[in-house]
Amino acid sequence: MADNDVIIIGAGLSGLVTAATLTARGTRVTLLDAEPLASLGGQAYWSFGGLFLVDSPEQRRLGVKDSAELAFDDWLGSAQFAPGAERGEGPDRYGYAWARRFVDFAAGEMRPWLHGMGVRWFPLVQWAERGGHLAGGHGNSVPRFHVTWGTGPGILEPFVQAAVDAHRAGLLELRTRHRVTGLVTTDGRVTGVRADVLAPDGAGRGEPSNREVVRQVELGAGAVVVATGGIGANHDLVRASWPASAGHLPDEMLSGVPDSTDGEMLARATEAGAALVHTDRMWHYPEGIAMHTPVWSRHGIRILPGPSSLWLDADGGRLPAPLFPGFNALGALRHLTGRGDSYSWFVLNRQIMETEFALSGSDQNPDLTGKDLRLLAERVLPGAVTSSGRWRASAEAKWRCPAGAFRPETVVILR
Ligand SMILES: Cc1cc2nc3c(=O)[nH]c(=O)nc-3n(C[C@H](O)[C@H](O)[C@H](O)COP(=O)(O)OP(=O)(O)OC[C@H]3O[C@@H](n4cnc5c(N)ncnc54)[C@H](O)[C@@H]3O)c2cc1C
Repeated sequence: MADNDVIIIGAGLSGLVTAATLTARGTRVTLLDAEPLASLGGQAYWSFGGLFLVDSPEQRRLGVKDSAELAFDDWLGSAQFAPGAERGEGPDRYGYAWARRFVDFAAGEMRPWLHGMGVRWFPLVQWAERGGHLAGGHGNSVPRFHVTWGTGPGILEPFVQAAVDAHRAGLLELRTRHRVTGLVTTDGRVTGVRADVLAPDGAGRGEPSNREVVRQVELGAGAVVVATGGIGANHDLVRASWPASAGHLPDEMLSGVPDSTDGEMLARATEAGAALVHTDRMWHYPEGIAMHTPVWSRHGIRILPGPSSLWLDADGGRLPAPLFPGFNALGALRHLTGRGDSYSWFVLNRQIMETEFALSGSDQNPDLTGKDLRLLAERVLPGAVTSSGRWRASAEAKWRCPAGAFRPETVVILR
């Protein structure tokens, strides 16, 4: 018999949103996570909090004309679904159906729903992944990247609060240090999970924690949701999954995500009968640099590039159009790995640095994360690079780092 209505594996943003949605309907949920409570919320805490919203008031205020149809066309251009998906056939039938529903959601109830929970957005909508290809190719044809006021923690907050409220109402149990090692099946149906209960650990948010097993448990449930994130910290899996046609990945790579993003649950889900599709499709950034104050192993952070920097391959050759900074991350990466490059060059002068250069992540943008208008004003003023707390907290700190902490080959500032 099921002990729980639903078990959710993973207390990142996906798991927390699922928990909030289910408990709002009165469903009893057990939320399991391998990490200590300090890491509740997973990657989302560290994120920039940029959301895909369509035809929003923020876009309209800027004169951006967007629609669900345009956004769906853009989605199809990026996804390149296999033929038949639109008829509910082939490996991409679920991907297609999900994309259709998500785009309608992003153009409809998503913003009022989040707004009702207190989430707000920075008024300047950013243009991430422009693509710049012909119609039907990859990219967003209009700006759609809505940066949450409060960045990652700002989007996480209402869902952590919803979990606390559901816990108080007796609908949610959170079990940290429960690392799921397998899905239990009965008559071909998933009916529960097996988990290692790990020893307590005082690791801070995002830091690696121990894997010492103190006991094992088996929990039953009416349904099990796997929300364990991606594979980015598991470089062996990344290498094994990287398509041979896209060349060779560098021998040394950074991780934009905590060690907990190990992708192990993909194999566990497959053992229980899940059918994975497109395991060779991943999202990695070529324009990452080593973190000046690392929290997790091989900690890297992405440069959020404006279009004006010169982006060169390892030999100093310009990346071909339209692989300009910020246009097509995966396309640029495949170009570089296809050449066998293990690094590229970002060349910018001080003026570009002041106006365009930023690092991703909540911790690198204390003005937006802390909802600090004074700091935010400094971001747009000339000289912000040298005077603002934002840069004291991020870029300038790098220049003072011990040699080797920052890879000078990645960013070149021309004075
Ligand atoms: C610096 C940075 C900036 C980003 N900026 C953006 C942005 O602007 N916009 C955007 O859309 N996205 C952004 N992202 C990506 C986004 O944050 C993530 O895609 C998203 O938060 C992933 O949520 P998740 O719940 O799927 O996975 P995760 O946050 O990885 O959560 C998965 C959870 O599952 C747990 N877990 C894993 N395996 C097991 C197991 N076997 N048993 C039990 N628990 C397990 C992990 O401990 C973790 O807590 C950014 C990410 C980073 C790091």
